[in-house]
Amino acid sequence: MMSKGLLIVLSGPSGVGKGTICRVLCRENRHLVRTTSLTTRPPRKGEEDGVDYHFVSEKKFYELKNQGAFLEWAKVHGNFYATLAGEVEELRQKDYDVIMEIDVQGAAQIRSSSAEGISIFLLPPSMEELWQRINGRGSDTPDAIKDRFKTARHELMEVWKYDYVIINDIVSRAVKDIEGIIAAEKCRVERNKKFLEDIIGKR
Ligand code: ADP
Ligand code: 5GP
Repeated sequence: MMSKGLLIVLSGPSGVGKGTICRVLCRENRHLVRTTSLTTRPPRKGEEDGVDYHFVSEKKFYELKNQGAFLEWAKVHGNFYATLAGEVEELRQKDYDVIMEIDVQGAAQIRSSSAEGISIFLLPPSMEELWQRINGRGSDTPDAIKDRFKTARHELMEVWKYDYVIINDIVSRAVKDIEGIIAAEKCRVERNKKFLEDIIGKR
């Protein structure tokens, strides 16, 4: 069978629903695990350290960065974010499929690395709906909301670089589409090389 779990990169503008979709995906698919990123941003109301993010100081962030601990990192809306390489590697070795909810800069780093990630871009049904969702979350200041909406326009231009695009109109439908992508990726001949060689011999 496959030697390693899949690495799935999920990007999209703030408020499009990445967190919501990831929660449902991971709840319904036990083989799928979401990474816990590091961030220097302060926790929002209801966010838990070690669950939503590892909340760290800039000093700690730089320490880990200098040690080469990050698979990717980025500065987004004035704060630093990163994925721990060790966490991803450990989960994939255990055969878990790993989903990383990261911004477009981080996705570009994964693409240019040897990590073999599958990239998915989540789009809102419309910009009006995106505005509603960012506002509706009720956890950002008016300035932060404006900043996120402005950044969204730039982020959307990056969609062309991704493997797949999903419109998050209805959560359950978007989740089904992502499950479909994961299922198809697992059926790729190249990913099943070892299994094929075991039953039919080397080509
Ligand atoms: P992100 O992680 O991309 O910043 P969230 O998952 O926090 O976005 O979602 C932002 C807001 O939009 C939340 O209030 C969430 O409940 C809502 N939301 C997410 N997906 C949908 C959807 N398909 N339809 C309506 N509201 C949604
Ligand atoms: P938020 O502050 O709204 O939780 O996240 C802001 C942005 O940072 C989102 O686009 C989110 O996907 C991105 N982000 C979260 N974790 C990481 C990470 O580990 N790496 C990168 N590159 N971006 C991240």
